[in-house]
Amino acid sequence: MKIPVDDIPQSPKEISFSERIEELNEIYAKGSARDFRFPPSLHVVLVYYRSGKELFFHGRFEGSIGASCSRCLKDFSLKMDRQFEFVLIPDPATPARGAEELSRGDLGLSFYSTEEIDLSPLIMEQVMLALPTRPLCAEDCRGLCGGCGADLNREACACSATTGDPRMALFRTLKVGR
Ligand SMILES: [Zn+2]
Ligand SMILES: [Zn+2]
Repeated sequence: MKIPVDDIPQSPKEISFSERIEELNEIYAKGSARDFRFPPSLHVVLVYYRSGKELFFHGRFEGSIGASCSRCLKDFSLKMDRQFEFVLIPDPATPARGAEELSRGDLGLSFYSTEEIDLSPLIMEQVMLALPTRPLCAEDCRGLCGGCGADLNREACACSATTGDPRMALFRTLKVGR
């Protein structure tokens, strides 16, 4: 999605569109340890306005991304529904960038220097920021047995029967009854 800077009004304007994000597949294919599989596009609802030369954007995106569980390695569909916001300020085009780059990330500020704002890289950046560092198919995924590699979500393997899961020790000591 591209928006001409001159078309950005002072009072907030809301639009919704589908943003193509399949480029992320190439980015992640290049040497990331984690693998995600991105759909062709995500649904985005965006509100934008200006205050002087500063451009404000906030919105949310929704969609499903394919991921591999970091515990059991199973592929699953990761539901994304995230809010985001960023501010664009005119590029001061000064050579001393070091300090600015630093504060830039903290404040969610980016520079623009063109007549038209290309939202695509900005939204893809937000998607990357929203990705979990350790994707899980379920909060309580039991993972693979460190001994035999069995998927503990589906079966109790022989080694877990003998050594036991330390997390379950608490339950074993509790007497259930009334
Ligand atoms: Zn899992
Ligand atoms: Zn095992």
